[in-house]
Amino acid sequence: MSLSMVRELLRTLLKKPVTRKYPFERRELPDRYRGKIVIDYDKCIGCSLCARFCPAIAIKMVFIESEKGRKRKPMVYVYRCIFCGQCSLVCPRKAISYSKEFELATYNKEELVVEPKSSEKGDSNGTS
Ligand code: SF4
Ligand code: SF4
Repeated sequence: MSLSMVRELLRTLLKKPVTRKYPFERRELPDRYRGKIVIDYDKCIGCSLCARFCPAIAIKMVFIESEKGRKRKPMVYVYRCIFCGQCSLVCPRKAISYSKEFELATYNKEELVVEPKSSEKGDSNGTS
């Protein structure tokens, strides 16, 4: 080992690590961080723009039954999502936002499906 290597080794041994001890030390996420998608189904008018513009084909329009009749709503397959933000940009009702949830690894894909629901009584899902 050369002298310069020993000098470098000693220098770095005395320094604090530059990495964080994740998951014990976490950094604060920015306000506009795009984590798991959140849809306000009460604001949604079922226009399908989010599904049409999603480049990852992560959104599918499905029908739900409610007291006010049959409605089209988006179902999101989060495991396909690339967190590009396109769906929230095109939504005319600003019904799509993002949580700060990013630890999405799971053995069960179904946990990563955002299903339509609304506050209206009598809603039930049915795929289109
Ligand atoms: S963030 Fe992008 S990839 Fe994810 S659902 Fe929206 S449009 Fe699709
Ligand atoms: S773009 Fe917005 S309003 Fe239209 S279906 Fe998607 S979430 Fe609903």
